[in-house]
Amino acid sequence: MVMNKFETDSLFTKMEMDSRLRGNGNGAVCSHIVRVAFQSAADTEFDYLLPDTLWPVTTGQRIEAPFGRKNKPEVGFCVETDISHREHRETQRKKGKIFKLKRVSSVVDKEPLIDDQLLKLARWISSYYVCPLGQVLAAVVPSAVKKGAGARTEKSAYLIISPAEIEETIQQLRGKKQKQIVQLLQTKGASNAETALELKQILEGIGCTNQPVKKLVEKQIIKITEKTILKALPAFPMGMSIKADEVVLNEDQQKALNSIIDRINSDRFSVTLLHGVTDSGKTELYIRAVGAVLQKGKTAIVLLPEIALTAQTVQRFSSRFEKIAVMHSGLTSAQRNVQWRKIKAGDADVVIGARSAVFAPLARLGLIVVDEEHESSYKQDTAPRYNGRDVAIKRAQLADAHCILGSATPSLETLSNCTGKKHFNLVHLPRRVMDLPMPEMRLVDLRREHYSGVGINLISEPLAERLKEVLAKNEQAILLLNRRGYSNFVFCPSCKHTLHCRNCDVTLTFHKSKTYRGGRMQTITGKHINYGYAMCHYCLAQTLVPEKCPLCGKGMAMIGLGSQRLEEELAKKFPQARASRIDSDSMASRDYYRLLRDFGEGQIDILAGTQMLAKGLHFPNVTLVGIISADTSLYLPDFRANERTFQLISHVAGRAGRSAKKGVVFVQTFLPKQPAIQFALNADFDGFVREELKHRKACNLPPFWRLAVIVMRDMNFEKLETACKVMRERIDSVVAQDGLKIVVRGPMPAVISRVQRFHRMQIIIQAPRAEIIQRLFTSLRAAGPVRPKVKVAIDIDPVNLL
Ligand code: ADP
Ligand code: ZN
Repeated sequence: MVMNKFETDSLFTKMEMDSRLRGNGNGAVCSHIVRVAFQSAADTEFDYLLPDTLWPVTTGQRIEAPFGRKNKPEVGFCVETDISHREHRETQRKKGKIFKLKRVSSVVDKEPLIDDQLLKLARWISSYYVCPLGQVLAAVVPSAVKKGAGARTEKSAYLIISPAEIEETIQQLRGKKQKQIVQLLQTKGASNAETALELKQILEGIGCTNQPVKKLVEKQIIKITEKTILKALPAFPMGMSIKADEVVLNEDQQKALNSIIDRINSDRFSVTLLHGVTDSGKTELYIRAVGAVLQKGKTAIVLLPEIALTAQTVQRFSSRFEKIAVMHSGLTSAQRNVQWRKIKAGDADVVIGARSAVFAPLARLGLIVVDEEHESSYKQDTAPRYNGRDVAIKRAQLADAHCILGSATPSLETLSNCTGKKHFNLVHLPRRVMDLPMPEMRLVDLRREHYSGVGINLISEPLAERLKEVLAKNEQAILLLNRRGYSNFVFCPSCKHTLHCRNCDVTLTFHKSKTYRGGRMQTITGKHINYGYAMCHYCLAQTLVPEKCPLCGKGMAMIGLGSQRLEEELAKKFPQARASRIDSDSMASRDYYRLLRDFGEGQIDILAGTQMLAKGLHFPNVTLVGIISADTSLYLPDFRANERTFQLISHVAGRAGRSAKKGVVFVQTFLPKQPAIQFALNADFDGFVREELKHRKACNLPPFWRLAVIVMRDMNFEKLETACKVMRERIDSVVAQDGLKIVVRGPMPAVISRVQRFHRMQIIIQAPRAEIIQRLFTSLRAAGPVRPKVKVAIDIDPVNLL
């Protein structure tokens, strides 16, 4: 081994090195080595020789270079410049392979797309979320920017000879057109990049082709510059700009603001959790805090869940701040590019946007606000699987900035950070600003409902009754369905028994699995289904599935609640009502805005949709809200199901009581005694947290322990199983070798065990601290991909286990 080291070193004698620098025999000198991260590449970075003609290059600029065995031209981010040969050799030795250095073929960006702080942030994401740096960088810069959407390049020309030389030069030139061009540039005073004359004007003015221009460039008489011109697009495509009234803060708000301002003025990193019930004036405080930061000459980012961006919040910010940029999915590609460039150019000091706005290229960042910090939509479900809230905290730390996390129902993770970490600080807003009463809440036990041929009624008798009255009075109703209905739950139609986990007070959910060779079960519609794995996704224990009801011995049945079913039922029961369905998964945002507008204008009576409808919307004529099934655990079999249930009911309750007309909320459930539902109905957040934390602690779940999930998939089940076994063995050997305190579960079929003909298996990892998970994945990463090769997705701090 030692011999080898010397051998490799002696390979690089001075002469050798020189010849390497000159590349593979094709000319240009290369005195620098740069390190590049490619989006498409494996989990590693690559060194390239940089021809001196392309120097200087800075980190954050993209370059193009031949990549892979076929030397396909690929674009990648330059992540380090001027790597020394020694450093290059060290990394090669670590990789165990020696490659001949290739050279960069061109530099793509005139200026870096990301600064050092964002690069640092990207490196942190790459390491923490176990994702190749190139893939992270691809997500940091919007593709609209990389494509230059809505931009065109404008070429201009100017003279590079001195005024004294001009006369002589004109005389010496042969071509008439060339002479004319020089004369034109002289009369227009185009003598540098700033005063350059647009090429189009030159060609049209003189009536020539590009040819004479080229000649002049070759003769080094003129030079061409390129400028990128963006289409002029309005910053607020939704036509927003209203002036807001000045608000006088109440005592609670003032106290909270003082605490926040102190922290902002410290110019050091810290986090404030602003825990305030809905309508307690949180948004007002965000606005003040942003104002304070701008006063100091710094900038701010405000993150909102995607859906809230359509609502009034953006208007409220844009009425208070002038230099504001917006980033959300409702923008066209060109608009997005314009907004990004505006931020990059320093023409915006406030950025308001969804998850990815956390990467806004702002300089002098002083504040990041994350509204509704508990929202699971802050987690990106494709690589890099980052949580926007946690990245916001990290970015604030890198920028010595303050971070405000706001919520009416803070996540247990953030709450426990407030008690355990010194940078965190908790501020309360306990009262609603307008002291509005809470709406009336009614619980409906769905188990008492009748069955029809297609299953259980989704609109219970009491809800249907009320809906009739509401329609008669020309008022409106919102019906909430859960987002996804993948899984089903099992229920005994004769004695109404539902299956519970032996450890937890949670209804079990089941999923089909190809591997299971056991019994079959009949669905309500009479279909037979092979039954699979059962896991309590609350305590992660595996549980057996009885085919017969353990209480009465009759056959159990499966119930699935779907949004299509709801639509059919509505059409049958209320044929005259104008009902529409919002399905955020499949709906284009334009259609979504249109539906909301129509509903606001009273052209729709009943709006059915996902729980997203519960947020950020204000419709005074809505007097009825029906939560079709509050049992999120039945849809999202996950240990966070209770937390979600509590959040859902609390937010709906907060929304419903907003107008003079008194509202009522029907909470339908199969689990009326479920603590999360009871706590939510009593608006008892502290009680809920206390209860839930007990459970999380007992099961080693977040916020006490940390989680990671490895999801592996392939069309071929046998191959997948083998790969999963290999993965498990690797994990076990790292755990044994490094003596890590880790609990590993699986491989087991994922809740959704098959998607688009891909079988899915998962391995769940639990550890008491994040560093331990980090160490595990560092070792796994270094070992390279498992064989046989299958698709592997790693999810650190997953928000659900689907
Ligand atoms: P949250 O973000 O907590 O839901 P908002 O900041 O949106 O609360 O406040 C709710 C409503 O009350 C808004 O219309 C806001 O303009 C108004 N508001 C906020 N603070 C005050 C105040 N101190 N006095 C009067 N109205 C206020
Ligand atoms: Zn359990």
